[in-house]
Amino acid sequence: MSIALNLDHSTAVRPAVASRPSLIGLSKAQIASALVDAGITTDRESRMRANQLWNWLYVNGTTDFDRMTNVAKPVRQKLADTFILDRPEIVSEQVSSDGTRKWLFRFRDPANPLYPPVEVETVYIPEQDRGTLCVSSQVGCTLTCSFCHTGTQKLVRNLTAGEILGQVLMARERLGDFPGGQRPDDGGLVPSGDTRAITNIVMMGMGEPLYNYENVKQALLIASAGDGMSLSKRRITLSTSGVVPFIEPTGREIDVMLAISLHATNNDLRDVLVPINKKWPIEELLDACRNYPGLSNARRITFEYVMLDGINDSDAEARELVRLLAGIPAKINLIPFNPWPGSNYGTSPSSRIERFADIVNKAGYASPVRTPRGRDIFAACGQLKSESERLSKKDREALAG
Ligand code: SAH
Ligand code: SF4
Repeated sequence: MSIALNLDHSTAVRPAVASRPSLIGLSKAQIASALVDAGITTDRESRMRANQLWNWLYVNGTTDFDRMTNVAKPVRQKLADTFILDRPEIVSEQVSSDGTRKWLFRFRDPANPLYPPVEVETVYIPEQDRGTLCVSSQVGCTLTCSFCHTGTQKLVRNLTAGEILGQVLMARERLGDFPGGQRPDDGGLVPSGDTRAITNIVMMGMGEPLYNYENVKQALLIASAGDGMSLSKRRITLSTSGVVPFIEPTGREIDVMLAISLHATNNDLRDVLVPINKKWPIEELLDACRNYPGLSNARRITFEYVMLDGINDSDAEARELVRLLAGIPAKINLIPFNPWPGSNYGTSPSSRIERFADIVNKAGYASPVRTPRGRDIFAACGQLKSESERLSKKDREALAG
């Protein structure tokens, strides 16, 4: 059983349709220069002001310039006249019987506020000792992995850094993670004790994060900044289907944990399951993994492997997986396939998954089986999809006038 919450939309933070730019998603240096460019501060004052704003936005989760009490009133007014602090609108919020929570968030295109808004899904997975937010990087996906629901939705557009962060900010607000916030009391769970509700972020929602590299990088650097939201980089994991040229930069420039959607042990099968394999086959992908900056036994790469009945789940494949990963500090995450309407695969029986895990374990790899979470609200891995459709060129031209 799942609960769909009836939200009072009158209190939801609505994105402004005006063309004022948002400060969310700018680095601190970019905020400082935006303030100078707008004539709000002098060059000399700009760093101090940017620091103040940063603290309000990311430590306190403030969405209203008027609450920024250490900023003089006339300056607050100028800020409000010039910028917005937009967050996504919550279209729906569902809570699974296992406490998993899924939001459908709506964004307007900041560059084209007249375009129809786009929607993405974001999922929160609470456990005893942690809470993980699964964040989307794109609306839809250009890739077409044959077992993934998101892959059936054409790419509508990349999310901006502000929109990627907007999912985190809105989720933190709903979960009472900002100072003075209230934990929800609707049956959804959060970790016990006084840990934050959101301790971990996984870039495993809709889209391929490495096809939106610059925005994902900017958003994750802001989310992990020590003087802001301060999420630990060791608790941020970026999952890629294998965009090889961006793997090394991810380690060097973002410095987060890496997960690879491997799913097959030979190129013929991986070409079908994860078609990007035709461009960057298994050998090239694993070479990039071997060279991942900062890789060590304390900082392993997670290899995701979806268990598809009769397709990739034999003992021979388990042994081949172990052989392929030799020498790479790795964890193997076995994901029981999550079905979706129209999917052509079945989930491997649990006895098969256990046997596969056993072979991998005996070879010395930790191989937790990912318990499906939030299936009743369609929030499990690979089940996310939104209704946003790509506009035709004609429609876009008509809207642009
Ligand atoms: N695009 C990125 C991240 C999003 S998908 C990527 O592909 O890595 C997050 C994980 O869920 C990936 O490992 C993906 O392969 C897996 N996945 C997709 N569809 C699934 C399904 N139906 N059942 C189980 N896992 C699935
Ligand atoms: Fe895109 Fe990842 Fe789904 Fe493949 S598995 S279609 S890369 S979201």
